Amino acid sequence: MAFQIYPTLEIPETLAAGPGPGNTDARVLQAFAGAGVADHMQGDVLRGMIECKHMLRQIWGTGNTYTFAVAGTGWSGLDTMFSAVMPGDKVVAFSNGTFSGIDALTLRIKAATPAEHAANPLNPQATSVTVIEVPHGQPVTGEMVEQALADHQPKWAFMAHWETGSGRVNDLRGFSDACERHGAMGLIDAVSSLGVADFRIDDFPGIAGWASCPQKGLCCLPLTYAPVSFTDAYIDALKTTGAYSYVHNPIFEARHWGIVDGQDVEKGTYHRTHSGYAVAAFHESLRLTLQEGLAKRAHSYRTHEAVLRDAVTALGCEVTSDMPSLVVLNLPGDLAGREMELVQNCRARGFGIWPTLSAPVQVRIGILNQLNHRSISRIVKLFAEAIREMGGSVDFEAIEALLESRYGTSIAA
Ligand SMILES: *Cc1c(COP(=O)(O)O)cnc(C)c1O
Repeated sequence: MAFQIYPTLEIPETLAAGPGPGNTDARVLQAFAGAGVADHMQGDVLRGMIECKHMLRQIWGTGNTYTFAVAGTGWSGLDTMFSAVMPGDKVVAFSNGTFSGIDALTLRIKAATPAEHAANPLNPQATSVTVIEVPHGQPVTGEMVEQALADHQPKWAFMAHWETGSGRVNDLRGFSDACERHGAMGLIDAVSSLGVADFRIDDFPGIAGWASCPQKGLCCLPLTYAPVSFTDAYIDALKTTGAYSYVHNPIFEARHWGIVDGQDVEKGTYHRTHSGYAVAAFHESLRLTLQEGLAKRAHSYRTHEAVLRDAVTALGCEVTSDMPSLVVLNLPGDLAGREMELVQNCRARGFGIWPTLSAPVQVRIGILNQLNHRSISRIVKLFAEAIREMGGSVDFEAIEALLESRYGTSIAA
Protein backbone atom coordinates (compact mmCIF):
# COMPACT_ATOMS: atom_id res chain seq x y z
CA MET A 1 0.00 0.00 0.00
CA ALA A 2 1.26 3.43 -0.91
CA PHE A 3 1.65 5.79 1.97
CA GLN A 4 0.13 9.17 1.72
CA ILE A 5 2.03 12.44 1.83
CA TYR A 6 -0.29 15.29 2.67
CA PRO A 7 0.19 18.74 1.16
CA THR A 8 1.95 21.31 3.32
CA LEU A 9 -0.39 22.37 6.11
CA GLU A 10 -1.69 25.88 5.51
CA ILE A 11 -3.34 27.54 8.48
CA PRO A 12 -5.19 30.75 7.66
CA GLU A 13 -4.92 34.03 9.51
CA THR A 14 -7.91 34.42 11.85
CA LEU A 15 -9.04 37.20 14.15
CA ALA A 16 -8.29 35.89 17.66
CA ALA A 17 -11.17 37.47 19.59
CA GLY A 18 -11.66 34.93 22.35
CA PRO A 19 -10.43 34.26 25.89
CA GLY A 20 -7.02 33.22 24.52
CA PRO A 21 -4.77 32.55 22.77
CA GLY A 22 -4.60 36.23 21.99
CA ASN A 23 -3.35 37.97 18.91
CA THR A 24 0.40 37.24 19.04
CA ASP A 25 2.38 40.42 18.70
CA ALA A 26 4.29 40.84 15.42
CA ARG A 27 7.48 41.57 17.34
CA VAL A 28 7.15 38.24 19.16
CA LEU A 29 6.65 36.32 15.91
CA GLN A 30 9.65 38.02 14.41
CA ALA A 31 11.81 37.13 17.40
CA PHE A 32 10.64 33.51 17.17
CA ALA A 33 11.33 33.19 13.44
CA GLY A 34 14.57 35.15 13.64
CA ALA A 35 16.27 33.05 16.31
CA GLY A 36 19.23 31.02 15.15
CA VAL A 37 19.35 27.27 15.65
CA ALA A 38 21.22 27.33 18.90
CA ASP A 39 21.30 24.53 21.43
CA HIS A 40 19.87 24.96 24.89
CA MET A 41 23.27 25.40 26.54
CA GLN A 42 24.48 28.03 24.04
CA GLY A 43 25.55 31.21 25.80
CA ASP A 44 22.95 33.63 24.40
CA VAL A 45 20.10 31.20 25.05
CA LEU A 46 21.21 30.87 28.68
CA ARG A 47 21.66 34.63 28.99
CA GLY A 48 18.18 35.16 27.50
CA MET A 49 16.69 32.84 30.11
CA ILE A 50 18.41 34.73 32.93
CA GLU A 51 17.14 38.04 31.50
CA CYS A 52 13.61 36.60 31.22
CA LYS A 53 13.76 35.61 34.89
CA HIS A 54 14.70 39.17 35.90
CA MET A 55 12.04 40.74 33.64
CA LEU A 56 9.38 38.41 35.06
CA ARG A 57 10.22 39.50 38.60
CA GLN A 58 9.79 43.13 37.55
CA ILE A 59 6.51 42.57 35.71
CA TRP A 60 5.09 40.48 38.54
CA GLY A 61 6.40 42.77 41.29
CA THR A 62 8.17 40.15 43.32
CA GLY A 63 11.39 39.40 45.13
CA ASN A 64 10.63 35.66 44.95
CA THR A 65 13.89 34.08 43.79
CA TYR A 66 11.93 31.11 42.44
CA THR A 67 10.34 33.12 39.61
CA PHE A 68 10.93 31.57 36.20
CA ALA A 69 8.91 29.89 33.44
CA VAL A 70 7.89 26.39 32.43
CA ALA A 71 7.95 25.11 28.86
CA GLY A 72 4.41 24.70 27.54
CA THR A 73 1.11 26.44 28.20
CA GLY A 74 -0.94 27.39 31.24
CA TRP A 75 -1.52 23.81 32.40
CA SER A 76 2.24 23.19 32.37
CA GLY A 77 2.80 26.08 34.79
CA LEU A 78 -0.17 24.97 36.90
CA ASP A 79 1.05 21.36 37.02
CA THR A 80 4.38 22.65 38.26
CA MET A 81 2.67 24.77 40.91
CA PHE A 82 0.55 21.82 42.07
CA SER A 83 3.53 19.45 42.14
CA ALA A 84 4.19 20.13 45.85
CA VAL A 85 0.70 18.86 46.76
CA MET A 86 1.16 15.30 48.01
CA PRO A 87 -1.27 12.39 48.55
CA GLY A 88 -3.37 13.03 51.64
CA ASP A 89 -2.57 16.76 51.81
CA LYS A 90 -5.49 18.81 53.06
CA VAL A 91 -6.65 21.22 50.35
CA VAL A 92 -9.53 23.68 49.90
CA ALA A 93 -10.17 24.61 46.25
CA PHE A 94 -12.69 27.14 44.92
CA SER A 95 -14.28 26.36 41.58
CA ASN A 96 -16.43 28.92 39.73
CA GLY A 97 -16.06 27.86 36.11
CA THR A 98 -14.33 25.62 33.59
CA PHE A 99 -10.72 26.38 34.45
CA SER A 100 -10.86 26.42 38.22
CA GLY A 101 -12.90 23.22 37.80
CA ILE A 102 -9.96 21.57 35.99
CA ASP A 103 -7.58 23.02 38.60
CA ALA A 104 -9.71 21.36 41.29
CA LEU A 105 -9.52 18.07 39.35
CA THR A 106 -5.72 18.44 39.17
CA LEU A 107 -5.62 18.98 42.94
CA ARG A 108 -7.74 15.86 43.53
CA ILE A 109 -5.36 13.92 41.27
CA LYS A 110 -2.32 15.19 43.21
CA ALA A 111 -3.82 14.67 46.68
CA ALA A 112 -5.54 11.31 46.06
CA THR A 113 -4.14 8.24 47.79
CA PRO A 114 -3.31 5.14 45.68
CA ALA A 115 -6.61 3.54 46.81
CA GLU A 116 -8.55 6.65 45.77
CA HIS A 117 -6.85 6.62 42.36
CA ALA A 118 -7.65 2.93 41.87
CA ALA A 119 -11.30 3.51 42.76
CA ASN A 120 -11.76 6.25 40.16
CA PRO A 121 -8.62 6.66 38.05
CA LEU A 122 -9.75 9.58 35.86
CA ASN A 123 -11.70 11.45 38.50
CA PRO A 124 -10.34 10.52 41.92
CA GLN A 125 -12.45 11.61 44.85
CA ALA A 126 -9.69 12.60 47.25
CA THR A 127 -11.23 12.89 50.70
CA SER A 128 -8.52 15.35 51.76
CA VAL A 129 -9.63 17.86 49.11
CA THR A 130 -12.68 20.05 49.70
CA VAL A 131 -13.96 21.71 46.54
CA ILE A 132 -16.22 24.71 47.13
CA GLU A 133 -18.45 24.98 44.06
CA VAL A 134 -19.45 28.55 43.30
CA PRO A 135 -22.18 28.81 40.61
CA HIS A 136 -21.15 29.81 37.07
CA GLY A 137 -21.14 33.58 36.70
CA GLN A 138 -20.53 34.31 40.37
CA PRO A 139 -17.21 35.37 41.91
CA VAL A 140 -15.29 33.78 44.78
CA THR A 141 -15.52 36.29 47.63
CA GLY A 142 -13.22 36.90 50.60
CA GLU A 143 -16.04 35.83 52.97
CA MET A 144 -16.37 32.46 51.22
CA VAL A 145 -12.63 31.89 51.54
CA GLU A 146 -12.55 32.99 55.19
CA GLN A 147 -15.42 30.64 56.06
CA ALA A 148 -13.99 27.61 54.26
CA LEU A 149 -10.46 28.04 55.61
CA ALA A 150 -11.81 28.53 59.15
CA ASP A 151 -13.85 25.32 58.79
CA HIS A 152 -11.19 23.12 57.22
CA GLN A 153 -7.77 24.55 58.23
CA PRO A 154 -6.06 23.17 55.07
CA LYS A 155 -2.36 23.09 54.21
CA TRP A 156 -3.14 24.46 50.73
CA ALA A 157 -5.86 26.77 49.41
CA PHE A 158 -6.54 27.32 45.73
CA MET A 159 -8.42 29.91 43.64
CA ALA A 160 -8.28 31.25 40.08
CA HIS A 161 -7.54 34.98 40.01
CA TRP A 162 -9.69 35.51 36.90
CA GLU A 163 -11.98 32.59 35.97
CA THR A 164 -11.93 32.77 32.18
CA GLY A 165 -14.74 30.22 31.78
CA SER A 166 -17.38 32.53 33.22
CA GLY A 167 -15.42 35.79 32.94
CA ARG A 168 -15.31 36.55 36.68
CA VAL A 169 -12.71 38.39 38.73
CA ASN A 170 -12.24 36.66 42.10
CA ASP A 171 -11.21 38.37 45.35
CA LEU A 172 -7.43 38.09 45.45
CA ARG A 173 -7.05 40.37 48.50
CA GLY A 174 -9.67 38.46 50.49
CA PHE A 175 -8.08 35.15 49.49
CA SER A 176 -4.57 36.21 50.46
CA ASP A 177 -5.71 37.69 53.79
CA ALA A 178 -7.67 34.56 54.70
CA CYS A 179 -4.67 32.36 53.83
CA GLU A 180 -2.48 34.46 56.13
CA ARG A 181 -5.01 34.34 58.98
CA HIS A 182 -5.36 30.57 58.79
CA GLY A 183 -1.78 29.62 57.95
CA ALA A 184 -2.71 28.06 54.60
CA MET A 185 -0.39 28.26 51.61
CA GLY A 186 -2.35 29.97 48.84
CA LEU A 187 -2.03 28.82 45.23
CA ILE A 188 -3.31 31.05 42.41
CA ASP A 189 -4.16 30.31 38.79
CA ALA A 190 -3.14 33.66 37.27
CA VAL A 191 -3.27 32.35 33.69
CA SER A 192 -5.59 35.04 32.37
CA SER A 193 -4.61 37.99 34.57
CA LEU A 194 -0.83 38.23 34.13
CA GLY A 195 0.01 40.97 31.63
CA VAL A 196 -3.55 42.36 31.76
CA ALA A 197 -4.04 43.34 35.42
CA ASP A 198 -1.77 45.71 37.30
CA PHE A 199 -0.95 43.84 40.52
CA ARG A 200 2.16 42.89 42.48
CA ILE A 201 2.78 39.43 43.88
CA ASP A 202 4.54 40.81 46.95
CA ASP A 203 1.38 42.70 47.97
CA PHE A 204 -0.29 39.30 48.59
CA PRO A 205 1.82 37.54 51.22
CA GLY A 206 -0.76 34.80 51.84
CA ILE A 207 -0.08 33.38 48.39
CA ALA A 208 2.81 30.91 48.09
CA GLY A 209 2.50 29.87 44.45
CA TRP A 210 1.46 31.55 41.20
CA ALA A 211 1.14 30.14 37.69
CA SER A 212 0.33 31.77 34.36
CA CYS A 213 0.67 31.18 30.60
CA PRO A 214 2.46 32.68 27.58
CA GLN A 215 -0.40 33.29 25.16
CA LYS A 216 -2.92 35.49 26.95
CA GLY A 217 -1.89 38.75 28.61
CA LEU A 218 1.76 38.39 27.62
CA CYS A 219 0.94 38.20 23.87
CA CYS A 220 3.50 35.44 23.34
CA LEU A 221 3.06 32.15 21.48
CA PRO A 222 1.48 29.08 23.06
CA LEU A 223 4.05 26.35 23.78
CA THR A 224 6.71 28.84 24.73
CA TYR A 225 6.88 29.62 28.46
CA ALA A 226 4.38 29.64 31.31
CA PRO A 227 5.53 31.95 34.13
CA VAL A 228 5.52 30.68 37.71
CA SER A 229 6.59 32.20 41.03
CA PHE A 230 7.03 30.63 44.46
CA THR A 231 7.77 31.99 47.93
CA ASP A 232 10.50 30.52 50.10
CA ALA A 233 7.75 28.92 52.23
CA TYR A 234 6.54 26.99 49.18
CA ILE A 235 10.06 25.87 48.31
CA ASP A 236 10.67 24.81 51.93
CA ALA A 237 7.48 22.71 51.86
CA LEU A 238 8.59 21.13 48.58
CA LYS A 239 12.03 20.40 50.01
CA THR A 240 10.43 18.65 52.96
CA THR A 241 8.03 16.41 51.02
CA GLY A 242 9.54 16.09 47.54
CA ALA A 243 7.28 15.81 44.50
CA TYR A 244 6.27 13.01 42.14
CA SER A 245 7.86 14.72 39.14
CA TYR A 246 11.30 15.37 37.78
CA VAL A 247 10.38 17.68 34.90
CA HIS A 248 7.77 19.77 36.77
CA ASN A 249 9.57 19.96 40.12
CA PRO A 250 10.16 23.71 40.61
CA ILE A 251 13.51 23.13 42.34
CA PHE A 252 14.88 21.08 39.42
CA GLU A 253 13.35 23.32 36.75
CA ALA A 254 14.69 26.53 38.27
CA ARG A 255 18.27 25.33 37.76
CA HIS A 256 18.12 25.94 34.03
CA TRP A 257 17.05 29.52 34.80
CA GLY A 258 20.11 30.03 37.01
CA ILE A 259 18.43 29.45 40.39
CA VAL A 260 20.26 26.96 42.63
CA ASP A 261 19.72 26.41 46.39
CA GLY A 262 17.63 29.58 46.64
CA GLN A 263 20.31 31.75 45.01
CA ASP A 264 20.72 33.35 41.61
CA VAL A 265 23.77 31.93 39.87
CA GLU A 266 25.44 33.26 36.77
CA LYS A 267 24.49 30.48 34.39
CA GLY A 268 21.80 27.85 34.12
CA THR A 269 22.53 24.15 34.26
CA TYR A 270 20.80 21.39 32.29
CA HIS A 271 17.26 20.44 33.26
CA ARG A 272 15.71 19.72 29.86
CA THR A 273 16.15 20.84 26.26
CA HIS A 274 14.95 24.41 25.88
CA SER A 275 14.17 26.10 22.58
CA GLY A 276 16.13 29.12 21.44
CA TYR A 277 13.09 30.12 19.35
CA ALA A 278 10.81 29.98 22.37
CA VAL A 279 13.28 31.84 24.59
CA ALA A 280 13.66 34.62 21.99
CA ALA A 281 9.87 34.98 21.60
CA PHE A 282 9.23 34.96 25.33
CA HIS A 283 12.02 37.46 25.93
CA GLU A 284 10.47 39.85 23.39
CA SER A 285 7.00 39.54 24.93
CA LEU A 286 8.42 40.49 28.34
CA ARG A 287 10.28 43.44 26.83
CA LEU A 288 7.01 44.57 25.22
CA THR A 289 5.15 44.35 28.51
CA LEU A 290 7.80 46.34 30.36
CA GLN A 291 8.08 48.95 27.62
CA GLU A 292 4.34 49.56 27.59
CA GLY A 293 4.00 49.35 31.37
CA LEU A 294 1.37 47.30 33.17
CA ALA A 295 -0.47 50.32 34.58
CA LYS A 296 -0.99 51.74 31.11
CA ARG A 297 -1.93 48.41 29.63
CA ALA A 298 -4.40 47.61 32.42
CA HIS A 299 -6.06 50.99 31.92
CA SER A 300 -6.28 50.42 28.19
CA TYR A 301 -7.98 47.03 28.71
CA ARG A 302 -10.59 48.60 30.99
CA THR A 303 -11.28 51.40 28.49
CA HIS A 304 -11.72 49.11 25.48
CA GLU A 305 -13.66 46.48 27.39
CA ALA A 306 -16.15 49.18 28.41
CA VAL A 307 -16.69 50.13 24.75
CA LEU A 308 -17.19 46.50 23.70
CA ARG A 309 -19.52 45.89 26.65
CA ASP A 310 -21.65 48.95 25.84
CA ALA A 311 -21.77 48.08 22.14
CA VAL A 312 -22.99 44.49 22.68
CA THR A 313 -25.45 45.76 25.30
CA ALA A 314 -26.78 48.22 22.70
CA LEU A 315 -27.24 45.16 20.44
CA GLY A 316 -29.55 43.70 23.07
CA CYS A 317 -27.09 41.28 24.68
CA GLU A 318 -26.76 40.80 28.44
CA VAL A 319 -23.16 40.91 29.72
CA THR A 320 -22.55 38.77 32.83
CA SER A 321 -18.73 39.07 33.15
CA ASP A 322 -16.44 41.61 34.81
CA MET A 323 -13.03 40.69 33.32
CA PRO A 324 -11.22 43.56 31.52
CA SER A 325 -9.98 41.31 28.69
CA LEU A 326 -13.17 39.35 28.03
CA VAL A 327 -16.91 39.89 27.64
CA VAL A 328 -19.22 36.94 28.40
CA LEU A 329 -22.79 37.46 27.24
CA ASN A 330 -26.24 36.06 26.58
CA LEU A 331 -27.79 36.81 23.20
CA PRO A 332 -30.93 38.99 22.93
CA GLY A 333 -34.17 37.20 23.95
CA ASP A 334 -35.30 36.34 20.40
CA LEU A 335 -31.95 34.55 19.74
CA ALA A 336 -31.63 32.92 23.17
CA GLY A 337 -30.45 29.33 22.96
CA ARG A 338 -28.67 29.90 19.63
CA GLU A 339 -25.33 30.96 21.15
CA MET A 340 -23.44 27.92 19.84
CA GLU A 341 -24.82 28.41 16.34
CA LEU A 342 -23.74 32.05 16.31
CA VAL A 343 -20.24 31.21 17.55
CA GLN A 344 -19.87 28.49 14.90
CA ASN A 345 -21.00 30.86 12.14
CA CYS A 346 -18.41 33.42 13.24
CA ARG A 347 -15.60 30.90 13.59
CA ALA A 348 -16.35 29.44 10.14
CA ARG A 349 -15.40 32.77 8.66
CA GLY A 350 -12.27 33.38 10.69
CA PHE A 351 -13.81 35.55 13.40
CA GLY A 352 -12.53 33.56 16.37
CA ILE A 353 -14.97 34.12 19.24
CA TRP A 354 -15.81 31.32 21.70
CA PRO A 355 -18.67 29.69 23.52
CA THR A 356 -18.39 28.87 27.22
CA LEU A 357 -16.93 25.38 27.60
CA SER A 358 -19.28 24.34 30.40
CA ALA A 359 -22.98 25.04 30.94
CA PRO A 360 -24.74 27.43 30.52
CA VAL A 361 -23.81 28.12 26.89
CA GLN A 362 -22.81 31.77 26.54
CA VAL A 363 -20.75 33.75 24.02
CA ARG A 364 -17.23 34.90 24.94
CA ILE A 365 -15.57 37.76 23.06
CA GLY A 366 -12.02 38.69 24.03
CA ILE A 367 -9.79 41.64 23.23
CA LEU A 368 -6.29 40.32 24.02
CA ASN A 369 -3.78 42.56 22.23
CA GLN A 370 -6.64 44.27 20.31
CA LEU A 371 -6.34 47.53 22.20
CA ASN A 372 -7.15 50.12 19.57
CA HIS A 373 -10.32 51.59 18.13
CA ARG A 374 -9.93 49.95 14.76
CA SER A 375 -9.74 46.42 16.22
CA ILE A 376 -12.61 46.93 18.66
CA SER A 377 -14.79 48.45 15.94
CA ARG A 378 -14.03 45.52 13.67
CA ILE A 379 -14.99 43.04 16.40
CA VAL A 380 -18.23 44.90 17.16
CA LYS A 381 -19.22 45.09 13.48
CA LEU A 382 -18.48 41.43 12.78
CA PHE A 383 -20.52 40.46 15.82
CA ALA A 384 -23.40 42.75 14.80
CA GLU A 385 -23.39 41.20 11.32
CA ALA A 386 -23.55 37.71 12.80
CA ILE A 387 -26.58 38.72 14.90
CA ARG A 388 -28.30 40.21 11.89
CA GLU A 389 -27.64 37.11 9.80
CA MET A 390 -29.44 34.99 12.35
CA GLY A 391 -32.48 37.24 12.06
CA GLY A 392 -31.75 39.58 14.97
CA SER A 393 -32.48 43.26 14.58
CA VAL A 394 -29.43 45.50 14.40
CA ASP A 395 -29.34 49.28 14.13
CA PHE A 396 -25.95 49.67 12.44
CA GLU A 397 -26.18 53.46 12.53
CA ALA A 398 -26.69 53.47 16.27
CA ILE A 399 -23.72 51.11 16.73
CA GLU A 400 -21.58 53.28 14.49
CA ALA A 401 -22.64 56.37 16.45
CA LEU A 402 -21.77 54.68 19.74
CA LEU A 403 -18.29 53.73 18.50
CA GLU A 404 -17.67 57.20 17.14
CA SER A 405 -18.78 58.92 20.31
CA ARG A 406 -16.45 56.72 22.36
CA TYR A 407 -13.44 56.91 20.09
CA GLY A 408 -13.92 60.25 18.39
CA THR A 409 -14.48 60.58 14.66
CA SER A 410 -11.07 59.34 13.66
CA ILE A 411 -12.04 55.68 13.16
CA ALA A 412 -10.60 54.38 9.94
CA ALA A 413 -13.17 52.47 7.92
C1 LIG B 1 -6.52 29.48 29.58
C2 LIG B 1 -6.60 29.10 31.01
C3 LIG B 1 -6.05 27.90 31.49
C4 LIG B 1 -5.43 26.86 30.57
O1 LIG B 1 -4.29 27.30 29.98
P1 LIG B 1 -3.63 26.57 28.69
O2 LIG B 1 -2.70 27.63 28.23
O3 LIG B 1 -4.75 26.25 27.75
O4 LIG B 1 -2.91 25.37 29.14
C5 LIG B 1 -6.10 27.65 32.84
N1 LIG B 1 -6.65 28.54 33.69
C6 LIG B 1 -7.21 29.70 33.28
C7 LIG B 1 -7.81 30.63 34.28
C8 LIG B 1 -7.19 30.02 31.92
O5 LIG B 1 -7.74 31.16 31.50
